[in-house]
Amino acid sequence: MKSDTWDYSVFWKETMNLVRQEVSEQEWVMWFNNLSYESSGESGIVLRVPSSFYRDQIKQRYLPLIEAKLRELSGHSLALSFTIAQPSKSDQAPRPAEAPKARKRPHPNLKQDYVFDNFVIGENNSFAANAGYAIAKNPGTAYNPCLVYGGVGLGKTHLIQSIGNAAYQEFDNFKVAYVTAETFTNEFIDAIRDKKNHQFKNKYRNVDLLLIDDIHFLQNKTETQEELFHTFNALYDANKQMVFTSDRPVSELKHLTDRLRSRFERGLNVDLKPPNYETRFAILKQKVELKKVDIRDDVIEVICRNVTTNVRDLEAALTKLIAYADLVNKNVTLEVAQEQLKDVFSNPKQNNITLEMIQRVVAEYFALSHNDLRGKKRTKGIAFPRQIAMYIAREMTEYSTTEVGLEFGGRDHTTVMHACQRIESRMKSDPTLEPMVQNLVRSVKEYGTKTV
Ligand code: ADP
Ligand code: MG
Repeated sequence: MKSDTWDYSVFWKETMNLVRQEVSEQEWVMWFNNLSYESSGESGIVLRVPSSFYRDQIKQRYLPLIEAKLRELSGHSLALSFTIAQPSKSDQAPRPAEAPKARKRPHPNLKQDYVFDNFVIGENNSFAANAGYAIAKNPGTAYNPCLVYGGVGLGKTHLIQSIGNAAYQEFDNFKVAYVTAETFTNEFIDAIRDKKNHQFKNKYRNVDLLLIDDIHFLQNKTETQEELFHTFNALYDANKQMVFTSDRPVSELKHLTDRLRSRFERGLNVDLKPPNYETRFAILKQKVELKKVDIRDDVIEVICRNVTTNVRDLEAALTKLIAYADLVNKNVTLEVAQEQLKDVFSNPKQNNITLEMIQRVVAEYFALSHNDLRGKKRTKGIAFPRQIAMYIAREMTEYSTTEVGLEFGGRDHTTVMHACQRIESRMKSDPTLEPMVQNLVRSVKEYGTKTV
């Protein structure tokens, strides 16, 4: 029988509908959006994928699921095979450096420790890490742009620089630019001042991979946003990869121009969450091995049980312990650890949290001034942030509703109660609110550590 008499395309479509119900939206976007039906033959279906990396990942992760669904629908086993087709410009795609690869000199703006090998994967970050890895192997193809978001100390900088380091080593003549949004802004301002706009444009529009860290910093910087918008378009049209990080989802970046926001939202958006106990343990275990220090597992355990916020705090606790052990030339026993980390564990910083800190953090988040929250104005743009700040104040401090009310424009305690109830009930109906509040709580704690 001739192969063109076989047509399983309808089965394929239906199979994808079933698979979609069983995987998360993130997985769907990541792995199935770029998988398409190519042709049918006597023994099965040929699928098109953008790269061999992609094919291997699909096989490893989803082949049993896909085959099972296909069997359910078609009534018999169909083999799946793959053909690799780069979307259009395959000839322009970066070529892997010839093996055996001589390591290039380190990239001047990337930290050498920030590599995938040192990035411990747990359920909190596996999706982001896999996406990052796929991007490093196939820049400018499937996930462009990519935006990684999450709270402080959860590994955004480590991950984005790992992408840079891996791609930089992987491909010949591959230009990587890494900047924080703050540096990008400052360079742009200097370029205008020194009439060097042209050099600035050249620098960022002629790269293969652009990494911009902490784009929440760009809020309210309208001219820099404008410049980035044009940089974005130039790189996007040339199929050059971009990866950004932000401390919150793009939808919560209130002071971005709509057109820049829509650019960030265009590609893949992935989040980093706080690690669970097992992942925290794995991370510290790895740090201990990298640093070649002698810290026992029971000590690592006690740190991981007590420090739950983020990886940066986890590392800080370990560093403190190592410094102590070095200084007094002692072994770190469980008792020593508990004694030395007493402060960290009981988290006294939380007791130092003032209403002003909360007001400052919340005001900054909503791009308001601290006085807006302390004032009388009741416009919607201020009333909601104020309610959130009051809610957080009640959650994080021991101040009474009367005291909180006084600090928020001399309001009555019933207003504070009402605000807290409103936020609580809104959290039930609006799933984005709770992560936002948690994010703010983290920032307040962080603010506390900076100022104490
Ligand atoms: P962020 O940019 O999100 O604030 P960083 O990337 O600076 O966070 O991470 C803080 C510290 O935690 C860094 O030293 C980083 O190496 C470490 N870290 C974060 N996530 C991981 C991880 N999954 N595995 C190993 N180390 C991690
Ligand atoms: Mg960072």
